[in-house]
Amino acid sequence: MISRRKFLAVGSLAGASVLSGNKPLGMNVDDSVFTGSPIVISTWDFGIAANAAAWQILKNKGRALDAVETGVHVPEADPNNQSVGYGGLPDRDGRVSLDACIMDEFGNCGSVAGLEHIIHPISVARKVMEKTPHVMLVGAGALQFALEQGFKKENLLTPASEKAWKEWLKTAKYNPEINVENRLFSPAKLPGNQYNHDTIGMLALDAAGNMSGACTTSGMAYKMHGRVGDSPIIGAGLYVDNEIGGATSTGVGEEVIRNVGSFLVVELMRQGYSPDEACKEAVMRIIRKKPETAKKIQVGFLALNKKGQFGGYAIQKGFSFAVCDQNDQKQLIKSPSYY
Ligand code: ASP
Repeated sequence: MISRRKFLAVGSLAGASVLSGNKPLGMNVDDSVFTGSPIVISTWDFGIAANAAAWQILKNKGRALDAVETGVHVPEADPNNQSVGYGGLPDRDGRVSLDACIMDEFGNCGSVAGLEHIIHPISVARKVMEKTPHVMLVGAGALQFALEQGFKKENLLTPASEKAWKEWLKTAKYNPEINVENRLFSPAKLPGNQYNHDTIGMLALDAAGNMSGACTTSGMAYKMHGRVGDSPIIGAGLYVDNEIGGATSTGVGEEVIRNVGSFLVVELMRQGYSPDEACKEAVMRIIRKKPETAKKIQVGFLALNKKGQFGGYAIQKGFSFAVCDQNDQKQLIKSPSYY
């Protein structure tokens, strides 16, 4: 597996070839043999704590699927994290509704969207994958299924998030706006304020060389009730192909869905792009299609290939990702960005 220093070098070489118009040298399925030890990567600074939980499983030769589920439980259960799980900022109606999906090394996947009252939507998504013939359950049906599976119904709206929502109501009121995302994600408000979005997307490669991924979020703050972002949509917020690698995303989900972002990143890696160059090309698709919109929003992609190489790229500055492997359990990397 490559070290971070080597990763940066690989990234810049691949970048040079793409900028010069030549595609990077192809990585065939045959070259993508896992030769290293386990690794887990995840979006944003809070990925460090999530990776630490996942690492406990990976270092004991556990399965990547168990690692990603356990890892993302950390931000889901953290009341101070206002963008994932318990304590997430609610929708315009004051309801905390969660989106999550999970995908394993066999291409199995499960997903929930608009799930209320359940602290660990990722585990409900896993149950959808393992216990039903379906991929995705939404809203009341997802809640009904979760309760049948023994999950506890809880109030996820913390006093801090309720207060923030009431503050928001004073100025924004309940007044559906077509371009609310642009206002919420204007560069002036990035990064690090209550409107900042931040999904956790996590990808892990285990000691057996198998990959799984998980993605979980409370979605865009003050979204319209019923709005579903990219995070629970297989191929948009998360995609894993155990032959090639995996990708996940964060940011304005609508643009990720329009470009089927995570699937695109994995397919680019299949064609020979390194993880960072694949993430960059996916971001460039968004920018090329809607250059004016892209100036005002954030989208970040994160990818891991079967060799344990990783990379990320974002539209705006400020995207970070956490990396944990046998050499360093707490790396935090500032992603390169277009702006
Ligand atoms: N991608 C998430 C969504 O659109 C939000 C985020 O990552 O900030 O719901």
